[in-house]
Amino acid sequence: MDFNFTEDQVMLRKAFADFVAQEVAPKAAEWDASDTCPVELFPMMGELGILGVFVPETYGGVGLGHVERLIALEEIARHSAGLAMFVFTHQLGMAALLENGTEDQKKRYLPLLCAGEKISGLATTEPTGGSDLLGANTTAVLEEDHWVLNGRKCFITNSHLADLAMVTAKSGEDEKGRNLLTIYLIEKGTEGFGPGRKEHKMGLRGSVTGELVLNNVRIPKESVIGAVGKGYGIAAKTIGEVGRASMAAICVGILRGCVEESVKFANERIVYGKPIAKLQPIQFHIAENRLDYEAGKLLLYRAAKTKDEGKSAVAEFSMAKHFGTEAASRAAKRTIELMGAYGVIDEYPAGRFLRDALTSISSGGTSEIQRLIIAGDTLKTFA
Ligand SMILES: Cc1cc2nc3c(=O)[nH]c(=O)nc-3n(C[C@H](O)[C@H](O)[C@H](O)COP(=O)(O)OP(=O)(O)OC[C@H]3O[C@@H](n4cnc5c(N)ncnc54)[C@H](O)[C@@H]3O)c2cc1C
Repeated sequence: MDFNFTEDQVMLRKAFADFVAQEVAPKAAEWDASDTCPVELFPMMGELGILGVFVPETYGGVGLGHVERLIALEEIARHSAGLAMFVFTHQLGMAALLENGTEDQKKRYLPLLCAGEKISGLATTEPTGGSDLLGANTTAVLEEDHWVLNGRKCFITNSHLADLAMVTAKSGEDEKGRNLLTIYLIEKGTEGFGPGRKEHKMGLRGSVTGELVLNNVRIPKESVIGAVGKGYGIAAKTIGEVGRASMAAICVGILRGCVEESVKFANERIVYGKPIAKLQPIQFHIAENRLDYEAGKLLLYRAAKTKDEGKSAVAEFSMAKHFGTEAASRAAKRTIELMGAYGVIDEYPAGRFLRDALTSISSGGTSEIQRLIIAGDTLKTFA
């Protein structure tokens, strides 16, 4: 099995890293402090091919895969996990459209989304609990040639920014009385549809998280993504393979940040007249940060390669996401410890790494849910 990136992927990473060094790294701390979303970078990211890197050229993308998409997210998250969150949620909406939309929907919207001229997102979570996707209360009723939607979504990334939201709603019941979900494409400005409360988060700041309110929203019959009643499968696959992959990539970016910052600090900080990098306990912290980073990277890109080969990778992405979020949280804490008092000073990024890593745990499904998915797969695969 080949664990190496191709020459093209290495070159692409360099191009993404150059963009991040110039446009992201110098401003990341300020976006975090003021909780500002740098929407002005979107068209530039569109032009560079970051947003639509995984979308075929026919729809305005670059025609590469998810490995390349995740390389870009990792590079962005190395300096700004909040910006990476904004970008990937946009891609979550694009992926739902690309894999399930009609030819007409794809031709109409994907080029604008790839170019960064429009912003997208995927809204499933409700006050009834994000883990219970089927327990949603938002309803969709067909009235002649229009659907009418009512309900409220919460903790939605890009809630206040999205021009094009993919929203799940209960459109019927199956023969056993269980909810059937459908995904609807709703454009900004549609009467009765708009953002509600905006949340103030501990981490992943700079990405916007809030409510979407649906009050007698009338949308044409053709606004369905995929088929009526198939929304659960589409949402679960999109969150499972694109959302969790992206959270894992964000955490690999944070983990790399922990390795690089701990090495830099350990070499520069002089105690007892020598760099603390000479102290064995400090070296152990650095070794553990490196181990977490390398393991997180292997889990992530192995799963991404599997997806790009056209195979299902739900359990693999759950492993990458669960390991990544937990590893990034412990590596950030370790980095703070290694830095002594400097670790908790805002001038250094270690505190932000910890807040971002902890905030990543529930987004895209909690650790308990990931363990359930991994256990289910293991009980089948190893029986
Ligand atoms: C920064 C951020 C961005 C987000 N962006 C989006 C977005 O763009 N779109 C979107 O739709 N959602 C989004 N979410 C919501 C996210 O998907 C949910 O937070 C997540 O699914 C968990 O749902 P919940 O918070 O309602 O927790 P709950 O489902 O209420 O869970 C509460 C607790 O119960 C546990 N639990 C629940 N069910 C089980 C079970 N079966 N077995 C064992 N334990 C269980 C959970 O693990 C957790 O510990 C975002 C969340 C965050 C933090």
